[in-house]
Amino acid sequence: MFHKHWLAALGICVVMTVAATAAPPLKALIVDGQNNHDWKKTTPLLKQYLEQTGLFAVDVATSPPKGHDLSGFKPNFAAYDVVVSNYGFGGDPWPEETNKALVDYMEGGGGLVIYHSADNAFPGWKEYNLMIALGGWGGRNEKDGPYVYWQDGKIVRDMTPGPGGSHGPQHEYQLVVRRADHPITKGLPNVFMHSADELYNRLRGPAKNLTVLATSFSPKDKKGTGRHEPMLMTIQYGNGRVFHTVLGHAPKQLRSVAFIVTFQRGAEWAATGKVTQTVPDDFPGPDKPSVRE
Ligand code: ZN
Repeated sequence: MFHKHWLAALGICVVMTVAATAAPPLKALIVDGQNNHDWKKTTPLLKQYLEQTGLFAVDVATSPPKGHDLSGFKPNFAAYDVVVSNYGFGGDPWPEETNKALVDYMEGGGGLVIYHSADNAFPGWKEYNLMIALGGWGGRNEKDGPYVYWQDGKIVRDMTPGPGGSHGPQHEYQLVVRRADHPITKGLPNVFMHSADELYNRLRGPAKNLTVLATSFSPKDKKGTGRHEPMLMTIQYGNGRVFHTVLGHAPKQLRSVAFIVTFQRGAEWAATGKVTQTVPDDFPGPDKPSVRE
């Protein structure tokens, strides 16, 4: 008996050692450094969530502060399976060489995750706006492309003039899956609740090669549009894959399982075109948000 137990214990021990020392198969780079949001607190959470999947080794590239010389800011995008942008509203333009490196990386089949206010960045960078499909603020308006929303069972592209990007007070809201056959959304409930967050509306942009995976209703009594607005999206750019989530204003909102799981799945899809993760037991249904402390 003792011998058997000892062997079993040894077996478990060996398995655990292998699991603990095996290098994650994928490499992710989070880019931050300028954002009117609290990137110093959100980046560590994004990093943690990527690492928790067991799929990613994560590096962070932080730019110099706003107004400083960015000429030396040249992350090696090509060395990564996915780039996650937490570089947001009001961020200074990157050097031309860095922009070109991101374009080349994406055209060649790279992966990009656009997180919350990253879709506020770079209003004047044409290729970036093609990557994100929809953006807000920064003077965006009808010159940048249509408003895009869900109405009567389909996506509408609306060229009505007006500013791009708005949100009302934070509140809990449901996400409704519009493409249940996509690897990111496959297996998720059709309707699930997110904890109180900004609900971006009136985003606009080129909206090319865009797939809207999930929308949320934007109530007029919360300074919204009375329409279903895109919340989770994918965009094809060249041979590259973009996952765009508008969720997650601040660290508090990043505790929402609706955010965490869609972010983890979206990052894997952007990196590989597949999702191997299972949906966790604490994933929310339609009635109340699920929060991890
Ligand atoms: Zn925000």
